[in-house]
Amino acid sequence: MDNSHRYDVAVIGAGSAGLQAAQTLGRMHQSAIVISTDHYRNDPTGHMHNFLGHDGAPPAELRLAARKDAEAYDDVRFLDTTGAGVTRISGELGAFVLEIEGEPTVHARRVLLATGVRDTLPDVPGVAENFGDLVAHCPFCHGHEYAGTPIGILGAGAHVGAMASMLQPLSADRVVLTHGETPDEATRALLDRLGATVVTDPVAAVRRAEDRLVVTLADGTELTLGGMIVKTDWRQAAPFAEQLDLELSEVGAVVVDAFGRTSLPGVYAAGDLAQGPGLPMPMASVLVAASAGMMAAAACVQDAALARIA
Ligand SMILES: Cc1cc2nc3c(=O)[nH]c(=O)nc-3n(C[C@H](O)[C@H](O)[C@H](O)COP(=O)(O)OP(=O)(O)OC[C@H]3O[C@@H](n4cnc5c(N)ncnc54)[C@H](O)[C@@H]3O)c2cc1C
Repeated sequence: MDNSHRYDVAVIGAGSAGLQAAQTLGRMHQSAIVISTDHYRNDPTGHMHNFLGHDGAPPAELRLAARKDAEAYDDVRFLDTTGAGVTRISGELGAFVLEIEGEPTVHARRVLLATGVRDTLPDVPGVAENFGDLVAHCPFCHGHEYAGTPIGILGAGAHVGAMASMLQPLSADRVVLTHGETPDEATRALLDRLGATVVTDPVAAVRRAEDRLVVTLADGTELTLGGMIVKTDWRQAAPFAEQLDLELSEVGAVVVDAFGRTSLPGVYAAGDLAQGPGLPMPMASVLVAASAGMMAAAACVQDAALARIA
């Protein structure tokens, strides 16, 4: 790699946000480098839903097609790293420096963060093995596949009431598994009103049996479900928000304006790691991430153009 080259934009991440950003930058003849590791949030699942024209397709298939699209533009270059990827970003608008494990340093005028988030799953045996299939965190992504069957909802917080309500049109039979916890009175009353069953015994394990999920409770009782919704704890996949002292939202997402600009001039963010105006949390989906990638790339192009005529 030519160490002296300064790219217009360094895109970090090649999920749907980064790949769409790359295509937009390529079409506007911005020299862009797209740096990634090979880990994506939806790695655990073989099917991607709720994406126009690709409903049910493998996520890797979409990424491959999107990458080919972006590679067709002369100004876009991909750097696939095998280690930790980008480890440090420093500098300022016009002169950012990216340190990358095992690779020469990259210089860029602007940086577009598309590094996504990492999930931590509830510590119940069998949940990780079935995550992305019979266990899921997102009803929009997986709920339809559980429709008409008993659907489990793991947890006892206020969110389980909202989830039981959201899933009502998909199944009359919703089972809230509080895993040994006691929901507060308001949540309990809401679940009763919604006709959800509440099981308070701890969950010992879950396992697949053909196309169903069998839940074993601590006393040995078994329940058979069509699927189970869990809440994951997520955090930024990369350390850049901290390194660059970017403003974070209450839930730990990078705060961006409608165009994906962060609190630091020259740094943009798109995809699951970022939260736009008026939203309570990042709207985590492949389509929303791609759209945000396009917006942030467009902002890079526009901000550079305006700077040239200022
Ligand atoms: C189990 C599961 C199922 C899902 N199913 C669906 C679904 O059906 N439909 C749907 O719309 N959404 C689904 N989602 C949500 C979807 O996966 C995300 O919304 C989407 O992947 C976000 O894209 P992204 O580009 O922000 O991040 P990601 O796709 O996670 O990409 C992050 C990129 O950043 C790179 N990266 C991270 N750190 C570094 C670093 N330090 N250096 C270099 N590169 C780095 C990674 O290598 C990767 O290229 C699902 C999520 C999960 C967990």
